[in-house]
Amino acid sequence: MTCRVRNLALISAGLVSVSLLAFACKPADKPDEKAASANPFEQASTLPFQAPDFTKIKDSDFQPGIEEGMRRQIAEIDTIANQSAAPSFDNTIAAMEKSGRMLDRALSVFFALVQANTNPTLDKVQTEEAPRIAAHQDAIFLNAKLFQRVKTLYEKRDSLGLDPEALQVLKLYYDQFVHSGANLSAADQERLKEINKQDASLEAEFQQRLVAGTKAGALVVDDKAALAGLSDTEIANAAQAAKDRGMPGKYVIPLQNTTQQPLLTDLADRDTREKLFNSSWVRTEKGDKNDTRSIIQTLAVIRAEKAKLLGYPNYAAYVLYNQMAGTPEAVQKFIGALVAPTRAKAAEEARLIQEAIKKDGKDFQLEPWDWQRYAEKVRKERYDVDEAQLKPYFELNRVLRDGVFYAATQLYGITFKQRHDIPVYQPDVMVFEVFDKDGSSLGLMYFDYFKRDNKSGGAWMSNFVGQSKLLGTKPVIYNVANFTKPAPGQPALLTFDDVTTMFHEFGHALHGLFANQVYPMDSGTNVARDFVEFPSQFNEHWALYPDVLKHYAVNNETGAPIPQALVDKLRKSQTWGQGYALGELLAASELDMEWHMLKPGAPKPDVDAFEAQALKTTGTDFTDVPPRYRSSYFLHIWANGYASGYYAYQWTVMLDDDAYDWFEQHGGMTRENGQRFRDLILSKGHTEDYGPMFRAFYGKDPDIGPMLKDRGLVPQ
Ligand SMILES: [Zn+2]
Repeated sequence: MTCRVRNLALISAGLVSVSLLAFACKPADKPDEKAASANPFEQASTLPFQAPDFTKIKDSDFQPGIEEGMRRQIAEIDTIANQSAAPSFDNTIAAMEKSGRMLDRALSVFFALVQANTNPTLDKVQTEEAPRIAAHQDAIFLNAKLFQRVKTLYEKRDSLGLDPEALQVLKLYYDQFVHSGANLSAADQERLKEINKQDASLEAEFQQRLVAGTKAGALVVDDKAALAGLSDTEIANAAQAAKDRGMPGKYVIPLQNTTQQPLLTDLADRDTREKLFNSSWVRTEKGDKNDTRSIIQTLAVIRAEKAKLLGYPNYAAYVLYNQMAGTPEAVQKFIGALVAPTRAKAAEEARLIQEAIKKDGKDFQLEPWDWQRYAEKVRKERYDVDEAQLKPYFELNRVLRDGVFYAATQLYGITFKQRHDIPVYQPDVMVFEVFDKDGSSLGLMYFDYFKRDNKSGGAWMSNFVGQSKLLGTKPVIYNVANFTKPAPGQPALLTFDDVTTMFHEFGHALHGLFANQVYPMDSGTNVARDFVEFPSQFNEHWALYPDVLKHYAVNNETGAPIPQALVDKLRKSQTWGQGYALGELLAASELDMEWHMLKPGAPKPDVDAFEAQALKTTGTDFTDVPPRYRSSYFLHIWANGYASGYYAYQWTVMLDDDAYDWFEQHGGMTRENGQRFRDLILSKGHTEDYGPMFRAFYGKDPDIGPMLKDRGLVPQ
């Protein structure tokens, strides 16, 4: 899956953990109280769980809320740094954890909206505030007096009598200060600040060009005949999309964020397929105002310079220091081990697809825009599974309540109740309260599932409110996706891929809901990128678990359960296409690594030439399997904090396949097994290192075996 978790730490380029943005505490200052009290982020929301009160939040509140929040946090930090009392954990670390509350409230809601429901006002705020937020983080982590206090505590950490979580949080702070440049000379710190500011501005600019380029890149079709193969609904959607864009009588196919486009499966006309594919491929490489290549060049170069300043050979090495994998070499070794079996599997798939093309009476050579259409034909022929046949069994509400929720109840004992009294930012958003096994409230969950033009592509999870015993907060979490919205009155019928996305994002949500930490710093999903996708991908496994599937996969019209034969075929069909699926992910992962292993001081590379060379040298230039994201629209690595981290999705597949293998060996879906996973993984946050955490659950280190088997890359 290419869904992603979102949290503030990731959004803010990994400079600062969510906890630092997540703090405020004593209203140390009383500026003009009137103006401040008019801002809805001034105080914690009085709604249940401190849920954001969208009836009170206006677009015009964000910028002043963020600015005032930063001002207050700096005042708080100064008080901590300049106090005369000798450093103690409470007056330094815990105090920092409590600071910045107003800023955290403003940013949590702001980031949610600018990603899921943006508009020109919010875009403008993002452009203006991104560099200021980066500078704000620098002001904290480059505060010499503050660092001195942290360092003093760190050096005598074993004699402070701290409990294990407090000790871990102290260590995380110390590492982050050093990683942020606290040990640098004043001149180097100044340069670092400039780079961080520039990076943040470029990231915001990249994201805006990409959203605009993706929207403008939609394929416009004049003639209905060119849409042959699409269903009546899909054609009606395309006509509506054209009307919405002021082109009545035409047809518009909007682009999704990946290289491949969903409708390529259905489009019978090869010219239309090629046009749609190319619209996707060049969306941000047209030499117009949405072209992102100059941004990428600069980002790669300044990130390399930053790594050098901080004593690392390249940016990837700098980023990976606190990840489970640890080094770029470990990452490339891991990917390298997957390349050969993937290439072989993709070549075998291409052979079968070429046969299908021939069988269809065509004599053309397979190209990337043909792949999905003919792969689907092979799937139908060999596995007889047709997405259209499946869709009636995957109605969104049913999948959510009787699938996603049901699995969580079976495994973890938790239950859900929809709440209509909590305000939402868009009418399609649904809110549920989540209850623990003993009936106590765990937190709130929001679901925003339908695609909109003002929503970034993909799917993600984050928090409106993070869990912390220190702050007395319970998790308020949202899942966002981009499913096709049905016509009014029609049910939302999903693909199995959509269903998997729902389970995936909810896996992140569980990681956030079961958080049980004192400090925001190590709470819930505030973990390494190459660990954070472990709970989400693990949760995907339950979508096909017999007891769960039977429970939710019921025909939307007839009420009949999904036929066993169809289930068997669906399960069997899961290994079909894995060569392509893994190939496009490995290619994207290597693009990410190569861009971020650029040597400091290297000249700005030509983007397209660099991309081709990167794929070639890493062996991920698979025939007809282009990267899932091209450099120029690779949002994860240029603007979403996943730089040098895209491999993490595959690394965590290793973890989740291994963990699921443990479940299968121990009786499958039981409350007992679920409780064990909850206790040893899902509720742990970052209170321990990841290697020991995994070993405590499984009793051994993770290995690649179950992953290769699961993917069908070795004989079953
Ligand atoms: Zn994810």
